[in-house]
Amino acid sequence: VSRNPMNTIFLGPPGAGKGTQAQLIAEQFRLKHISTGDLLRKAMAEGTPLGKKAQKFVNEGSLVPDELVIDLIREVLPSNGTGFLLDGFPRTVEQAKALDEMLKTEKKKLQNVIYIELADDEATTRLLARKRSDDTAETVKNRLKVYHKQTQPVVDYYKNAKQLVKVDGSPSPDLVRKAIEKTFGGSDGHA
Ligand code: AMP
Repeated sequence: VSRNPMNTIFLGPPGAGKGTQAQLIAEQFRLKHISTGDLLRKAMAEGTPLGKKAQKFVNEGSLVPDELVIDLIREVLPSNGTGFLLDGFPRTVEQAKALDEMLKTEKKKLQNVIYIELADDEATTRLLARKRSDDTAETVKNRLKVYHKQTQPVVDYYKNAKQLVKVDGSPSPDLVRKAIEKTFGGSDGHA
């Protein structure tokens, strides 16, 4: 385990490629990939209490209540020195503040907050092409609306903290990956 783990957050609208990039980067830099969307879908498929509470929100494309996802993150954030890559969290300023508190308690720091930018029309085209059950025309519209209203302030939160790095999400996945790699400062994560 690296002594200086590259604790990372991926921000960006739905469809920007966070999930795809998170898988690649987590593997390359040996980070624990934590996708709240994946964890919620799994909980829903398994019919756990969390899954049952989350279902309605996920299906309509709105956000699951903060306390549910914050508790979820509290459970899965590595308690040892393993680095993490958060994909889809935080999505509200409330969640960002809760994460700051958790990290402070654990004496951990964020090394990278990467904002993958993509215009709404391009995001919509991509989401409607991927055919996930919460990617219907109606929910996509709602998810982008929710993104601008609730998650854009999170982008500003990290921008104000001078932690934000912007990456253009519109080129091919390989080019986006290369741009993200650069923000890791040339480290291969095996140090
Ligand atoms: P995603 O796979 O990241 O697009 O997430 C799918 C859905 O899960 C979202 O539309 C939300 O309903 C829910 N979700 C995922 N992450 C969060 C979060 N951090 N806060 C609230 N809801 C979330």
